[in-house]
Amino acid sequence: MLNIKSAQRSRSASTGGDDLLLGRVDVCDVQVAFDGVDVLHGINFDVAPGEIVALLGPSGCGKTTLLRSIAGLERIVAGTISVNGNEVAGRRHHVRPEARKVGLVFQDWALFPHMSVAENVSYGLESNSNRDDQVSEVLELVGLGGLGHRMPATLSGGQQQRVALARALAPQPSVLLLDEPFSNLDSGLRVQVRAEVHSLLAGLGISAVFVTHDQEEAFVLGDRVAVMRDGNVEQFGSPAAIYEHPSSAWVAEFVGDANFLRGVARGASALTPIGQLTLSDSFDCEVDVLLRPEHVSVTDDESGHGIVSNVEYIGHDHMVQVDLDSGCRVAARISGTPRVQRGQRVSVGSDGSACLAFPAS
Ligand code: ATP
Repeated sequence: MLNIKSAQRSRSASTGGDDLLLGRVDVCDVQVAFDGVDVLHGINFDVAPGEIVALLGPSGCGKTTLLRSIAGLERIVAGTISVNGNEVAGRRHHVRPEARKVGLVFQDWALFPHMSVAENVSYGLESNSNRDDQVSEVLELVGLGGLGHRMPATLSGGQQQRVALARALAPQPSVLLLDEPFSNLDSGLRVQVRAEVHSLLAGLGISAVFVTHDQEEAFVLGDRVAVMRDGNVEQFGSPAAIYEHPSSAWVAEFVGDANFLRGVARGASALTPIGQLTLSDSFDCEVDVLLRPEHVSVTDDESGHGIVSNVEYIGHDHMVQVDLDSGCRVAARISGTPRVQRGQRVSVGSDGSACLAFPAS
């Protein structure tokens, strides 16, 4: 059975290398420009051995360009990129893609339609007496054992995705780079394939960087997430750190549902349209207080803050929207069966946890 972990270990031992660096990626102050226009403005992040990092951001923010720069498909104009502790890109230094020990899975999988599954997977492998065994083993690994003779067009979307994965894994890379790997799959299959790929990568202990514009995908798969915007990394950290302590109002909104209540802060307290809220920091100015829907409570109250404008029952919980008398709208995510209905006057509160706030924009 192909064992990428043990292959990695033996490679490390044979080079006298350090296991601590194997699968490590360091991206330092990386800038990339197209036709003289900067699209990456000094990117910093790192991938620890065995870690899965998501590059998350809206369309056009530079995620694919960053991934392609790590792969060696784009040249950087400033900064450095290191893989396994070796610098592979610098201002005047560019190691060719095939020498970087990275595997790349493209968004459209880029399978050769006229080649069988086995031929697709063996493409790029050195021809030696072990090649057929290597291909069979990696197909087994991704759950496609016995399908090597089939043509890509005869496979389901999920299977084709796994062929692309097998082809990237076959040369035993230290780092796997995946560009929107699930975007070609319909939503049901997407969740299933995502879970399979997640356990495969975790089982192999291989480092991976993947691109997505889907916050849920980034949070479910990523040990850490780099939130990108306009060619910069706005925040880099664990999904929980990003969700609970977003560095800006923009990040807070991008990674989940967010209510912002305008208030006047004096110290660690702000007066808002739903009353006094405790803040996690001190201010002395107008602020926008972040209140996630799961921290909002809604209570039937004739003299409350507003009117329920919508109730959406989801099953495990329900969403309630309240139009406040002050003119803004607040969403609450509440577990169980709805206890309020549209048109009802209610009071709105927080669960008492300290709220993040940002100086009013
Ligand atoms: P998406 O989610 O839509 O794929 P992205 O975040 O991956 O977007 P990139 O594809 O990296 O974004 O593109 C970043 C910027 O660089 C965009 O403005 C894009 O038009 C530009 N760009 C990308 N590739 C090239 C190229 N080869 N030549 C010129 N401009 C490019």
